[in-house]
Amino acid sequence: MGKQYETVIGLEVHVELATKTKIFCGCSTAFGGEPNTHTCPVCTGMPGALPMLNRQVLEYAAAVGLALNCRIPPLCKFDRKNYFYPDNPQNYQISQLYLPLCREGSIEIDTVQGKKTVRIHEIHMEEDAGKLIHETGVEQRDGQTQEDDIQEYSLVDYNRAGIPLIEIVTEPDMRSAEEVTAFLEKLRRIIQYLGASDCKLQEGSMRVDVNLSVREKGTEAYGTRTEMKNLNSFRAITRAIQGEQERQIHLLEEGKAVMQETRRWEDSKGESYGVRSKEDARDYRYFPDPDLMPVVVSRDWLEEIRSRQPELAEEKLERYRKEYQLPDYDIGILISSRHLATLFEETTALCGQPKKVSNWLMGDTLRLLNERGMEPEKLGISPEYLASLIRLVDEKIINNTVAKEVFQVMFDKGVDPKQYVEAMGLQTVSDEGILKQTLEKVIGANPKSVEDYRKGKEKAIGFLVGQTMKETGGKAEPGEVKRLLKELLDASV
Ligand code: ADP
Ligand code: ZN
Ligand code: MG
Repeated sequence: MGKQYETVIGLEVHVELATKTKIFCGCSTAFGGEPNTHTCPVCTGMPGALPMLNRQVLEYAAAVGLALNCRIPPLCKFDRKNYFYPDNPQNYQISQLYLPLCREGSIEIDTVQGKKTVRIHEIHMEEDAGKLIHETGVEQRDGQTQEDDIQEYSLVDYNRAGIPLIEIVTEPDMRSAEEVTAFLEKLRRIIQYLGASDCKLQEGSMRVDVNLSVREKGTEAYGTRTEMKNLNSFRAITRAIQGEQERQIHLLEEGKAVMQETRRWEDSKGESYGVRSKEDARDYRYFPDPDLMPVVVSRDWLEEIRSRQPELAEEKLERYRKEYQLPDYDIGILISSRHLATLFEETTALCGQPKKVSNWLMGDTLRLLNERGMEPEKLGISPEYLASLIRLVDEKIINNTVAKEVFQVMFDKGVDPKQYVEAMGLQTVSDEGILKQTLEKVIGANPKSVEDYRKGKEKAIGFLVGQTMKETGGKAEPGEVKRLLKELLDASV
């Protein structure tokens, strides 16, 4: 039998913080501005310009640290990480090496074997780099395109330079792609709930580097690891882990060694290639940034941050089970977005029917969000209106089919359901007199179905109910229609 291997994974996760301004200057962090318009002497690295720490960055970073059960020492400071690259106008990145803000935290995840703790090594603050745009241009000199008219060139946009990041470094505690996914989903949910970042992998507000090694099962020492970058979806992360563990096991099986290196995962090809080995790893010559004061983190201030922490997803989970007696499936969906959870709680407080509210949110709301390609955060439904819609159904003023139509208009246009139902005359036809008239008309027009029913074909009644619903424009209560129909047909035998 072949050898058994175990995969060992540690992550380095960069998260862009949701501040309005950059980490060391007042420039906007808004996405999508014209290139180099959100810049100033500080974030373009002009000589003599002086950085000043944005207090909100510290608040978000500390809030994340507290939520990840970290120890936050009374002092932290910033260091310069020196390297030359055109997206980095200062020729150094301001980061934290020697005294990071947070240390020794942990997150508990659910795995197939039960609960498991993933330790956090540290969390530090740093600034993002600018963005390079590589282009190819053609400049004709004599009306014809010649080979040397084609120029490759790069442009640089410093709007992103100086956007605040936190880097969360885990211990090598994960053992599979499933555990990594569970960890990242939980981490993302915590940070989103804190409002510290939207954590979107695709858009780069959350970036994950995967460090992976394999070792023979039962051995204690870790194997040599590689680091994989360029992973911008959960799917890419999972595939990269699977690909890399196979590659390393294959090397070991052939008696070869794994080289410590950085690899770039190409998701389209389903393979990775080495980009930098340990030998040519850069020496960043870190040193304390002389332009920035050490940051004293007072205990009182930390307590204040802690006291402002909103209820996190896991706490909601427990409370929803007790308070609303909802199935875990419902709860999982409701708490997947803080916005959805808030809408649920506020609507339930108004109408007192948790399961009905949950059904609207899990069903029609998620379907429409999907169809419209919208994030739950963009949901504009007001709790008052959703509660009012539920009441309209409960009081049998409209039936379920009509309610679904009204819901859709409410979702898209934010109308008041009660007013809309009245304005459009969507109330259920509950007046027995009017309903009976319609039924008689339907009975008269469908002698064949009436005969079938009388011969004992129960199914024929379904057709007649359908015809009646059509006649009323869907505004009758099908149960009521059926009851009355039977009454009429049985009476006139
Ligand atoms: P460095 O400072 O050289 O980057 P670190 O100790 O900071 O190394 O580790 C970086 C990341 O690599 C961490 O997330 C850590 O958990 C992970 N890591 C370290 N050793 C291993 C290993 N043998 N296998 C897998 N991951 C590892
Ligand atoms: Zn600036
Ligand atoms: Mg490191």
